[in-house]
Amino acid sequence: MSIAKYPKRSVEKDGKDLEKTVDGRHPFEVVFSHPPSDDEEQGTSSHTSSSVPEYSDRWDSAADGKLAIFTSAGVTASEKIAGYDMDGTIIKTKSGWDFPADTYDWQIIFPEVPEKLKNLHRNGFKICFFTNQRGIARGEIELDDFKVKIEHIVTELGVPIQVFIAIGDGFYRKPLTGMWQYLKAKMNAGVRIQKDLCFFVGDAAGRPETLKGGTKRREDHSLADRLFAANIGLTFYTPEVHFLNEPVEHWNKPDFDPTSIQDEMALFDPDDLTFEDHPCEMVIMVGLPGSGKSHLCGTFFQKRGYKIVNLNTRSSLIALKGFLQAGQSCVVDSTNIDVASRRKLLQVAVEMKIPCRCLVMNVPEAQVKHNLAFRDLSDSSVRSTVFKMLQEDYQEPTLDEGFKSIHKVNFKPKFADEKLEKLYKMYLLEKIGSAKSSI
Ligand SMILES: [Mg+2]
Repeated sequence: MSIAKYPKRSVEKDGKDLEKTVDGRHPFEVVFSHPPSDDEEQGTSSHTSSSVPEYSDRWDSAADGKLAIFTSAGVTASEKIAGYDMDGTIIKTKSGWDFPADTYDWQIIFPEVPEKLKNLHRNGFKICFFTNQRGIARGEIELDDFKVKIEHIVTELGVPIQVFIAIGDGFYRKPLTGMWQYLKAKMNAGVRIQKDLCFFVGDAAGRPETLKGGTKRREDHSLADRLFAANIGLTFYTPEVHFLNEPVEHWNKPDFDPTSIQDEMALFDPDDLTFEDHPCEMVIMVGLPGSGKSHLCGTFFQKRGYKIVNLNTRSSLIALKGFLQAGQSCVVDSTNIDVASRRKLLQVAVEMKIPCRCLVMNVPEAQVKHNLAFRDLSDSSVRSTVFKMLQEDYQEPTLDEGFKSIHKVNFKPKFADEKLEKLYKMYLLEKIGSAKSSI
């Protein structure tokens, strides 16, 4: 799916060191081979909603099977899309369980739903469902069974509907916008969609637990639907607001807002560091995977003639000593998150009477998780799951450890192209406070 500009680091044959898998260079310099297009020019403005209705029901498959699309007879392209999530928005289980027991364990969630959809259809809206179904990729649900279920739901609603089904992870899974982009590019007969006339409804809206009329309403399992709408730029409603005209509910914002990343701060804090014409030294980087260490080393330090040493192998410590002995400044590009791992390096510096400075990546946890999600999208060989393990072991460096100085490094991402920047500035995580969703 992706082509890294830099070659990946060699992987040790014994495979003992987990860090090397998450410490590679680097998410912000990766080029997607074929990301879904998000070209605003797609479609032609000369058409409006005058396309010919679909003659019969149709199934399509796209993106190497990561996307399945059902188009029912009568679906007509339109500049106006009424978008809906499906589970918990259009249907709920009959059993009352979170997940359906079988293909037939569903019912329309509110009696108001069919009439509302029919009205919108009469008013020129194209009704589209956008549903995440990771269970299909996991083999928990058979795609053929699920197709039968979709056809039954559409029949019961009695209105033409196009259903987009994201199978597995990646660009097509909400809150990423792949399903919408595919609709725009391929599934709307060239009719240009007017975003300001569209809306999206979903139950994954980040609402906290509430007491309503003596009954507890559980917190939403994620924010995927609300953030899907935000990433596209659509007006968002919850099912209760849209179908039942209930008042707008409170919701919890994600911890990191990628739409407002700051790039104006100085790189170092405090900003009193010099690296040019500096006597031979060792610089120790400290930071979790995804905090931008390798990017800094590969750009800032490489330019200044520092040797970049990654402690993936035992021989790299020997190499580090060799460089320092030859009077060559080095930067140690590893996580170095605990006192013990830093002590090993500081002992080398003391033995060799070489000063040692420490640079700590200054990236909030929520942004690190965002960075890892970004990296996952661009390079699936990287394992974000190691993150939590390392995070628990994190110990802030102190001068007592023997550093000459400790500085913070602010996160200033650079992108290979605009598409990547656009992707980075989307909400990529569907939950507050978790690197990956479990649903
Ligand atoms: Mg849902």
